[in-house]
Amino acid sequence: RPLVVMTNVSKSFSSGTLALSDMSLTVAGGEFVSLLGPSGCGKSTALRIISGLGDVTTGSIDWPSSRINAKGLPEGDISFVFQEPTLMPWQTVFGNVYLPLRLRGVSKAQASDEIMAALETVGLKDFAKAYPRELSGGMKMRVSIARALVTKPKLLLMDEPFAALDEITRQKLNDDVLRLWRETGITVIFVTHSVFESAYLSNRIVVMKARPGRVHADFPLETSLERG
Ligand code: ADP
Ligand code: ADP
Repeated sequence: RPLVVMTNVSKSFSSGTLALSDMSLTVAGGEFVSLLGPSGCGKSTALRIISGLGDVTTGSIDWPSSRINAKGLPEGDISFVFQEPTLMPWQTVFGNVYLPLRLRGVSKAQASDEIMAALETVGLKDFAKAYPRELSGGMKMRVSIARALVTKPKLLLMDEPFAALDEITRQKLNDDVLRLWRETGITVIFVTHSVFESAYLSNRIVVMKARPGRVHADFPLETSLERG
């Protein structure tokens, strides 16, 4: 069963902007999808709807593989990584990665192994006791990725996560995300306006167009990524 099924979704804001028009998208488990398109074509809006954070004006969004809670939203299967790492400065790296588990009522002692495993995945096991101000921009982003992974999501949504970083750091992080995808079996939807990034990372590119935002092309890559 697919992870996400978006059917004929349109989204208009109260400002009158039609951000998405009749968008349909099905994402299967294990895919690495890039949502590619110019600024303003509705990529972030689509990703918010896929995450359950944003509602649709018409059409529907379903998560056929997830447990659905009383609010009609998927329970715990989806994590989001934004361009801003948004770490809490008064908490250590460990404390920041603990947050999503703390919100679920998991004790620090119970969470400890999961937190260290997530930090190991992003190469920051030795920085558990550091504070965000001691870290480079790329390292902060990796903490944010560890925080997204600590709940063991099926689906990782990334909204232009590395756009604010320098090229070299960005390329390193792209390689980290690829390795993560290969090693964990996670499904990724990666928003970008970079053709290079979409071709480098994904095994399916969904191209969007603006005014109104919609899917313009959807194609698998011939040189599809291989897992393990
Ligand atoms: P992208 O991520 O591709 O840059 P967005 O999804 O952010 O595009 O935005 C799509 C369109 O919807 C743009 O015209 C944007 O200005 C508009 N938009 C996005 N969020 C809001 C909002 N909360 N209120 C009004 N208009 C919005
Ligand atoms: P990023 O590319 O993630 O921003 P850099 O590789 O530029 O980070 O590293 C910034 C500083 O932090 C450098 O001094 C680097 O040696 C150190 N550093 C980064 N990651 C690690 C790590 N996993 N272990 C030890 N030191 C690290």
